Amino acid sequence: MTDPGFGGLPRPQVTLDAARELAARLFGVTGEATELGSQQDRNVLLDGPRGRFLLKIGNPAFLPEETAAQNAAMRAVAAHGIACPTPVPTLDGREQAEVELDGRRHIVRLLSFVEGAPLIDRPYLADAVRAELGAVAGRVSEALAPLAGAGFERRLQWDLRHAEDVVAELRDFVPAERRTLIDAATAAAGAALAPLRELLPLQVVHGDLTDDNVVTEPGPDGRPRITGVIDFGDVAVGWRVAELAVSCSAVFHHRPGSPLAVLPLIAAFDERVPLTDDEIAAIWPLLVLRGATLVVSGEQQVVIDPENDYADSAREREWRMFAVPAAFDTRVATAAIRRRLGRPVESEPVPAGRPLLPAVPAVVDLGWSSRALRDGDWLAEPRGTEVRVLAAAAARAGAAATRYGEARLTRSHAPSATAPHDVALGIELRVASPQALTAPFPGRITPVEGGLRLVGERLELRIDGVDGSAEREVAAGDALGTVDGTAWLQLVAREGLVADPPRYVPADEAAAWTIRCPDPSTLLGITAAPQEETRASVLRRREGSYSTLQSHYYADPPRIERGWREFLIDTDGRHLVDMVNNVTALGHGHPRIAAAAADQWSMLNTNSRFSYGAVGDLSERLLATVPAPFDTVLLVNSGSEAVDLALRLARAFTGRPDVLCVQESYHGWTVASDAVSTALSDNPLAGETRPEWVHVVDAPNAYRGRHRGEDAGARYAADAVMEIDRLAAAGTPLGAFIAEPRNGNAGAIEVPPGYLAAVSAAVRRHGGVWIDDEVQVGYGRQGDVFWGYQQHEGVLPDVITVAKAMGNGHPLGAVITRREIADALAAQGSFFSSAGGSTLSARIGVEVLAVLHDEGLQEHAQRIGARLRERLERMQARHPMIGALHGRGLYQGVELVRDRETLEPATAEAGLICDRMLELGVVVQPTGDRQNVLKVKPPLCIGEASADRFVDALDAVLRDGW
Ligand code: PMP
Repeated sequence: MTDPGFGGLPRPQVTLDAARELAARLFGVTGEATELGSQQDRNVLLDGPRGRFLLKIGNPAFLPEETAAQNAAMRAVAAHGIACPTPVPTLDGREQAEVELDGRRHIVRLLSFVEGAPLIDRPYLADAVRAELGAVAGRVSEALAPLAGAGFERRLQWDLRHAEDVVAELRDFVPAERRTLIDAATAAAGAALAPLRELLPLQVVHGDLTDDNVVTEPGPDGRPRITGVIDFGDVAVGWRVAELAVSCSAVFHHRPGSPLAVLPLIAAFDERVPLTDDEIAAIWPLLVLRGATLVVSGEQQVVIDPENDYADSAREREWRMFAVPAAFDTRVATAAIRRRLGRPVESEPVPAGRPLLPAVPAVVDLGWSSRALRDGDWLAEPRGTEVRVLAAAAARAGAAATRYGEARLTRSHAPSATAPHDVALGIELRVASPQALTAPFPGRITPVEGGLRLVGERLELRIDGVDGSAEREVAAGDALGTVDGTAWLQLVAREGLVADPPRYVPADEAAAWTIRCPDPSTLLGITAAPQEETRASVLRRREGSYSTLQSHYYADPPRIERGWREFLIDTDGRHLVDMVNNVTALGHGHPRIAAAAADQWSMLNTNSRFSYGAVGDLSERLLATVPAPFDTVLLVNSGSEAVDLALRLARAFTGRPDVLCVQESYHGWTVASDAVSTALSDNPLAGETRPEWVHVVDAPNAYRGRHRGEDAGARYAADAVMEIDRLAAAGTPLGAFIAEPRNGNAGAIEVPPGYLAAVSAAVRRHGGVWIDDEVQVGYGRQGDVFWGYQQHEGVLPDVITVAKAMGNGHPLGAVITRREIADALAAQGSFFSSAGGSTLSARIGVEVLAVLHDEGLQEHAQRIGARLRERLERMQARHPMIGALHGRGLYQGVELVRDRETLEPATAEAGLICDRMLELGVVVQPTGDRQNVLKVKPPLCIGEASADRFVDALDAVLRDGW
């Protein structure tokens, strides 16, 4: 490069016509010409009979050996198995031509065109995609490592070795308020880098491996796969780690904006190109410098080339690429990187000095395990609750302290799209009466407003809420001041400190922050709390001891130990909106259920062979929800048991074993209830393995089944009736027909009108009974009706099975039927289930019905369900992937398809969408044989804000990718 400074270079002025003429004359290639973005070259896409090519008219400042070196780099990368552009020879067999334009020499090359969409077009980059970018950067680095030659020795403004000079030269282009930040961050990063500069390995680097310069194809799951690398215009010798830094930098403007989102990328690079300790230490300062050079160059480019829309549109993106790493503590970031790469991280030793207080304070729990936090008070009144808990403990013990490193529920919020900043990097102290504090280590006291700083050699103790005495030197044990009420204590490591550390950080950053803010517990005589078990270890223990047959949601599940209303709370304090727990119909942690259970346990829990009021209470209340001739209830422990018992009753009553069920259904796990379960998602072999007494007809699905449209119900019914008649004619008339009134398992699919009336009539005509399985969709969940069968005109089942919501998670199920049917079993002996209808279970069942009524939850389900439906319908217009919306009230299904015509299920996409929804704070899961329907069946108490959070999150995922 001829220009010794770092001024930007305007692109060569070449019209599209001229470009076309050059391509035809030099390379014999013709085609339609389109301008492609570039900072300094003129790039023209040619689309013609021989395919697509990129005509590259180099900036006259670039030398022929430099472009020749780029050609060599492209060949090396291609030889390493990574798709990239390669030079197409000129008509006379050269890799590049030289032409005169406007009196200056320009290098012209024709490059093969690499198809694919640049990664930059994807707003969201999943962990796996960021890791793939790191792996590609590592492979490119491997490919380029052996190269050498004069053409690689260039003085580029993108070479991070010159970053401080570039910023110094171009900073005036930046508006004043931003310039101050750029100056300060560049100086700090430069200082951090200074001792490392000579220690960083050099090699040929691509130099611009950004999201703009890797191209992708969508994978089968809709996630982008990196298929190639482009733009070798910045190839030169540089720091090897700079290759990585440039790729990392590109991540910051994508969602999520978390600074540590670069960790998977770094880890994937390190796997291919193991980083030295010096390189690791250099990463964060280089990220800041990369961001700063992007900002200053971008601002300058807009001034010297005002027509360059490409440079203009990049400005805000480039600012984020600077501001995100610049705002994050370098020492903490480096610790986080080292942890991720499995390198040792040395913590700051806390001096075992004199205790701050004469007596050890009591330690209070404000995390997930706290019993002092009650009934959601941490959300309703967070600060008041903290003070209440602390003050109560202080009143008992004289002084009380919170736990360092604890994810405080009181610092969480719900619902929310991002992880809360809830992990405490300090300790809050509360005293019952004024107490004197003594200096734990020697240092200089600096008073600040409302508190003081004790500045020691390596550590600084920050205390807010202590009377700020005068500036002075103190020895360990000297008086510091007096605390009255509440004070905040935080230790801060001084090395490399630029800005005040936060008091609370998100859980995924917390471990790294200990390097900056060590645990002050020992200063109070508190032994540091034992490390909480990690989610990984909880999962390992489960997998080591518990059957994997009983599977879990998510590959990397959060550890959930607490809940409140519609929120599942993980041990990091995150409140996740629970869209799947229809069982917990009243919500998690319901105070009335908890109180009823505790009270009943303390009184009596026995079995229904004894006479107590609760069995009658619950049975009467259940019968009050159904019309005559229902008059009898049997109580069991689960839906499977209810279905099993219902099948037995039907067999005893009719004397016939044969049962009809529908495809894609689930009725339970016991031998009999499993026999009538046909869902392939639960049992892929269900189709071939039904016992001979089970007969299966099509699932009446008017959206994607055999019969669609208006009269689908009648046509499905006609098929079923034909089968029913055939069975009777064959001498095996049905004893029972079992179905859900809405196919819940298949995804809240509506059973079309007329179907149940016609099928149940045919079954009865031959002497059979209809078992209506309401385990999933009954109990008020659908809003407009209490029982699902009530949505079907003119029908009444013979037997109803119910469970799940009936106990709000307590194991409780029931069969509701007529006495004649129940009594038929009596001839075969008695029926007894030890815990079915126990005092406790029956009491809980009664309380659940009372809460459903008192809180108006059925009406609430109708209102929130309608809101959800309306918002989802509006979304459906924007997102072709939403093929259909099923269900009503708080039992809905969002069916995802790849194509609205073919209805090809978006199965792989649905799984990844659910993973992304979890990051956005929503627990949702796919269901159905194709696992492509998102089930929407939250606790009935779900608030509007949480329902909206679900819709907004889904909207964002479908818009931004997964
Ligand atoms: N019937 C239906 C319709 C169900 O959805 C389920 C459970 N998913 C059951 C029966 C079995 O209930 P349980 O899990 O309580 O045994």
